[in-house]
Amino acid sequence: MMFIEYYRKDNFVEIKKFQLKFFDVNCYLINYKNNYFLIDPGSEYRKIKNYILEKKIKLDFILNTHGHYDHIGAVNDLVTEFNIPFYIHEEEEEIIKDPEKNLSSDFNLDGLSLKTYNLIKGNYVNNFLNKDIEIMNFPGHTPGSILIKIENCLFTGDVLFKGSIGRTDLPGGSSKEMENSLRKIKTLDKKLKILPGHGPESIIEEELKNNYFLQNLD
Ligand SMILES: [Zn+2]
Ligand SMILES: [Zn+2]
Repeated sequence: MMFIEYYRKDNFVEIKKFQLKFFDVNCYLINYKNNYFLIDPGSEYRKIKNYILEKKIKLDFILNTHGHYDHIGAVNDLVTEFNIPFYIHEEEEEIIKDPEKNLSSDFNLDGLSLKTYNLIKGNYVNNFLNKDIEIMNFPGHTPGSILIKIENCLFTGDVLFKGSIGRTDLPGGSSKEMENSLRKIKTLDKKLKILPGHGPESIIEEELKNNYFLQNLD
């Protein structure tokens, strides 16, 4: 695991990004108003755990953008180690339970099926856990993919990358739904900073100018 970047947007939100070896997933450690949580701890459980213990961080929960194996691989162990809840959108339940659908059966003989989880319901949650976190369901890559908005930061998982978008040909994917989600992305605040599930950061404004997939919608 590489420690890549440290952002400090203002007094309320701190973001640390770890680029995990497995599929180069970006795992984010957030400190927002003294609540600590992880987004997408996909692998490298020991290194994430050691970092948290070393820094004496009191981890409050895990929140995932979606349920593919490369994003959930370290979830079970972290939930057990720190005795914290794991949140994911209700439309991902089938994916996290089914090794074929979360693709873990492609990598690991037993496959991965998560048993301990809390489901986020609906298309939009304005004030998740009363912590000023916005959650929006943007299906297409998977049915329960969410965007997570904290102040001017938008965590986009595998829905939107810098210059690209997530695949729609995996179990639960839909190019039709992705198109609708991309249309909605075009209406978001242009100043939002994008922190994707893979690859470098961007800004909505930049993507509107440079992202082929956002430009070529009917
Ligand atoms: Zn994915
Ligand atoms: Zn991914």
